[in-house]
Amino acid sequence: TTNQPKRRDDKSRAAFEEAKQYIPGGVNSPVRAFKSVGLTPIYADHGQGSRIYDIDGNSFIDYVGSWGPLIMGHAHPEVVNALQETAAKGTSFGMPTLLETEMAKLVAERVPSIDIVRMVNSGTEATMSAIRLARGYTGRSKILKFEGSYHGHADSLLIKAGSGVATLGLPDSPGVPEGVAANTITVPYNDIETVKLAFEKFGEEIAGVIVEPVAGNMGVVPPLPGFLEGLRSVTEQYGSVLIFDEVMTGFRVGLNCAQGRFGITPDLTCLGKVIGGGLPVGAYGGKREIMEKMAPTGPIYQAGTLSGNPLAMTAGFTTLSLLTPEVYERLETLSARLQAGFEQNAQERGIPCTINRVGSMVCPFFTNEKVINFDTARTSDFDLFRRYFAAMVDEGVSVAPSQFEGMFVSGVHTEADIDDTIEAQRRALQRL
Ligand code: PMP
Repeated sequence: TTNQPKRRDDKSRAAFEEAKQYIPGGVNSPVRAFKSVGLTPIYADHGQGSRIYDIDGNSFIDYVGSWGPLIMGHAHPEVVNALQETAAKGTSFGMPTLLETEMAKLVAERVPSIDIVRMVNSGTEATMSAIRLARGYTGRSKILKFEGSYHGHADSLLIKAGSGVATLGLPDSPGVPEGVAANTITVPYNDIETVKLAFEKFGEEIAGVIVEPVAGNMGVVPPLPGFLEGLRSVTEQYGSVLIFDEVMTGFRVGLNCAQGRFGITPDLTCLGKVIGGGLPVGAYGGKREIMEKMAPTGPIYQAGTLSGNPLAMTAGFTTLSLLTPEVYERLETLSARLQAGFEQNAQERGIPCTINRVGSMVCPFFTNEKVINFDTARTSDFDLFRRYFAAMVDEGVSVAPSQFEGMFVSGVHTEADIDDTIEAQRRALQRL
């Protein structure tokens, strides 16, 4: 092994300098700037299967998967072919198409809580709309969320948020009016007793609880036994709407999403990422009785010029169609193999490490503590993470530039990819 950085980045560096003249911070989403890890962003040129090729000629085994959507890898031939066929027929109509019903039918079949579903263009739109619906349906104002969870950037949800907000160490965002923030209650993840206390105090005012059934924006944090069950029963008791934000976990942790995996049925579910197959899609759905309060059947408003877009529906539908039970079994096996390899590497090097995993969401934290919430996630050694990230990039492995995000294994990673990644990680840890 060598201590010399192996990644070439001259072209990416120049591209980033130019981008900064025209785009705030050079990027269209903050974490892409690699600010917290102090490196030049990787400028992608193209992707194929499990790999990304950048404009400097480097290649990476990719575990970012566009931050979750690419569960069948980059440029999957079936997705690309389907997109070409759809594009040739026109890219948007602003009229209903058959594709939208096909897609809704498939989602309703697979997601236990969903009778009917509305397509939007991002995860943010999905959660924002679900919150509005919960408030309109109950006639209440307060929302309960969990510290270190991220539900997109709508005002009500940008309080004690994880993901990029936490990565950049930003306090609660300026621009969110006090009156809005006052209606958001935050509680530690996995702490059902504190949730119950909040309900004893504010229960009659709480429109809904929004939760990531596996937290994926403070690293990966699985729900403790009883946590989701507790949320289900307390929301039922107080007539609040239980919203599962499955933007990240939906079709990621199982054929029937996290709610299928854990056997808990929420009232509303938010989806995104995987259901778009790499195109901009979000969705929210649930009980017919609640969903039909939305316009045009009901009085609560939400709309979208490009919602249900033919290209987006095509990429999503094709991706979901590729996701068979066998793919999920494979994801489980590959991800367990990756976890075991990483655990052994850390042990051999004597590096404190706790690896959390649910299905193909895998997250190494540099701590010996059990990570069950945002506070324990923050016991990870961030300086070590920063150096680890740089070493992984040099070893040709693309992971998220943040301790607060997991790795996503895809259905097109091979066993050889996993073994190469474990070897690369072993060398990366040796450089630390
Ligand atoms: N909810 C969760 C759980 C997410 O992980 C994300 C994005 N990481 C969002 C909502 C927001 O989705 P989008 O970035 O598509 O707006």
